[in-house]
Amino acid sequence: MEEKQAMKGSAEVICVGTELLLGDILNTNAQFLARELARLGIPHYYQTVVGDNPTRLQRAVAIACERSRLLIFTGGLGPTPDDLTLATLADFFGVPLRERPEVIADIEAKFAQRQRTMSPSNRKQALLPEGADVLPNPTGTAPGVVWEPRPGLTVMTFPGVPSEMTAMWEATAVPYLIETGWASDRIYSRTLKFWGVPESVLAERVAHLLALESPTVAPYASGGGVKLRITVKAANEAEAIAQITPIADEIRQIAGHDCYGEDDATLATVVGDLLRDRQHTLAVAESCTGGGLGQVITSVPGSSAYFLGGIISYDNAVKVGMLGVSPQTLAAEGAVSAAIAQQMAQGVRDRLGTDWGIGITGIAGPGGGSPEKPVGTVHIGLAGPAGDVNSQQYSFGASRGREWVRQMSGQSALDQLRRRLIADG
Ligand code: ATP
Ligand code: MG
Repeated sequence: MEEKQAMKGSAEVICVGTELLLGDILNTNAQFLARELARLGIPHYYQTVVGDNPTRLQRAVAIACERSRLLIFTGGLGPTPDDLTLATLADFFGVPLRERPEVIADIEAKFAQRQRTMSPSNRKQALLPEGADVLPNPTGTAPGVVWEPRPGLTVMTFPGVPSEMTAMWEATAVPYLIETGWASDRIYSRTLKFWGVPESVLAERVAHLLALESPTVAPYASGGGVKLRITVKAANEAEAIAQITPIADEIRQIAGHDCYGEDDATLATVVGDLLRDRQHTLAVAESCTGGGLGQVITSVPGSSAYFLGGIISYDNAVKVGMLGVSPQTLAAEGAVSAAIAQQMAQGVRDRLGTDWGIGITGIAGPGGGSPEKPVGTVHIGLAGPAGDVNSQQYSFGASRGREWVRQMSGQSALDQLRRRLIADG
């Protein structure tokens, strides 16, 4: 790897824009690219900033060609006359610009998507140096190029707009640099996801791993759950997996069922897999979440295999009429109570004929709280295949708002079911 890289040579970042020289904008593109090159293990010894001026740009290119093998340009790809990066490069390397029909088609399609028609000046953005390949731009109109104008010299161009530049870099440039052997080491990571354990508690339990230098382990709180990201720099995926897996196994050992999955897993996908494996079905009765739990469950493709449906029993009359909740219990305990959550769970399980029933009732706020039942109080009932029923009480608090309480309720219901399915085997 080292040898290959030494043969390839080093990179130079060339940012084009008079605004940069005037100090009107900060050169964040250079910072981004410098970090990325370091991350990818590509040597990077020079950076150049040059104004929107063809003569000076040509001079900068001439110097860069002498000392660098990978020239990365940002800026000057736009449709206006001051955008001259590609015309100048074509001129310097002595090749003509050619209009690329596929780029015209792509720009037209992007305008059509926004219900606009392409202006004539945009045609300019399809003029690319002969022999250059298109580097697609997923978010903006102007594509970049990746081009070997001379043997052993690679030119890449990116728009100046930072969001477009970074999106392109990640989507197309990094894969190219890895494929072509420019990048030796890559960053790999795996994220373990947790529910029902506070970040501080988890961090204490895995403190010795958080101190590691490689792989690194970093905690994140996210949407009511916690994540631990294990990151390593490695030459290839197999090597990365070999380094990450023992750490992930150790964390899972420590965290037990507080860890519900990895990477793309969500509580809804994990519960879905558990139900599908057991060929069990689920129905939900929702009060304070107003259908939010059903929404989360059905956002998983294939959820029809285990999810039959739900009843949004917001009003007490619906709890009684549709779920068979007892008016006496409602009067005695109130709608937000363990007894009602259990009756809702049982009622929906009976009426929809499923293995499992979930009932959610709570106070999402901002109004409706009381000293005994403050905003954020939620009861979640779970009715199981044996006709058994139980419930748990949660206090999600008022400070993070109504949506927070509703989301936490749905996720906690899934977690309650997940733990029960695992415990039942
Ligand atoms: P456009 O199609 O918008 O003209 P372009 O590829 O021609 O894009 P420039 O015209 O050079 O790019 O720059 C567009 C905008 O992007 C600038 O006004 C500036 O806000 C931002 N920008 C350009 N270069 C940089 C840079 N090096 N760092 C940070 N921001 C930059
Ligand atoms: Mg421009």
